[in-house]
Amino acid sequence: MAVIDKAYFPGFARKAISFSIDDGNLAMDEKFINIVKPRGIFGTFNLTAPKLDVLSASGYRDFYRGYEIANHCKYHPVTIDPLDTREFSDRIFERDTADERYYYRHPEVDGLWYLKRHDFWCVGAKYEDYIRFADCGRAELEAVFGKGAIKGFVWPHGCCYDERIFEHLRAEGYLYTRYTKHVDGEFAVQKDRMRIGMHARSTNLPKAAEDFVNAPDTGELKMLIFGVHSNDYERDGKWGVLADFCDVFREKPSEYYSAPIAELFEYEDAKEALSVTEDKLKNPSDRTLYVKIDGEKTVIPPHAELSL
Ligand SMILES: [Zn+2]
Repeated sequence: MAVIDKAYFPGFARKAISFSIDDGNLAMDEKFINIVKPRGIFGTFNLTAPKLDVLSASGYRDFYRGYEIANHCKYHPVTIDPLDTREFSDRIFERDTADERYYYRHPEVDGLWYLKRHDFWCVGAKYEDYIRFADCGRAELEAVFGKGAIKGFVWPHGCCYDERIFEHLRAEGYLYTRYTKHVDGEFAVQKDRMRIGMHARSTNLPKAAEDFVNAPDTGELKMLIFGVHSNDYERDGKWGVLADFCDVFREKPSEYYSAPIAELFEYEDAKEALSVTEDKLKNPSDRTLYVKIDGEKTVIPPHAELSL
């Protein structure tokens, strides 16, 4: 029987690079795109809700063309922990007099509360309101970027304190949610897609590039995801470091593939769906798949069958 090796990204690369950049800071995202795009690095921008007074809907589509847009939740709230014992005040939030033992109402948005988190005040929402803001944010983004375009959810403030929200997002068909957590290890494709993290940010790009280049071929797909705000690269003076990082991987299509995060997961699913029998390979997906049959590079078009 033929030996089938399915563990390749497009181009017969074992390794893929992607990024996940939060908050939709247009000026900084533009600088970021101007560095990654000419170097062939693709990824995902995570937006709260489009500000249509800044760019029109078609302006947004042009600006982010070629990149995935994920939902970063309307109003950028943190999830309120149902076990948190702080009381909910009836008062509107006033920064000068606010007491950190309370949640305070947002002056304009019903269901949005101010809370002290670490050493700063931010907004948060309880379960019912949170999922309302998440759903509404996705609808507003899809009105701009197209129905079905929003496949990922990225937690504002980096994590989730209420398990029920995961269930909701899963039921809504999200492909993944992203934490702001560091992922150690060998760059294996992350299995728990409801809690993916990142391998690098503005502070450790050179080391991450070196580790990724040196990661041995284990016969499995590997993925490096970096982030986290385009403004980090401005604030830390890391634009040159970002360019150098991307240069390590550019124009090596047989070694490194790059695509937005949802696309990489969808490719992985299509690859898993490839059926192999004694005499036939069948690709039921709408993706072109890259496999090696007895060491021979073979490209399998969408919905194609191949006799072995
Ligand atoms: Zn954010």
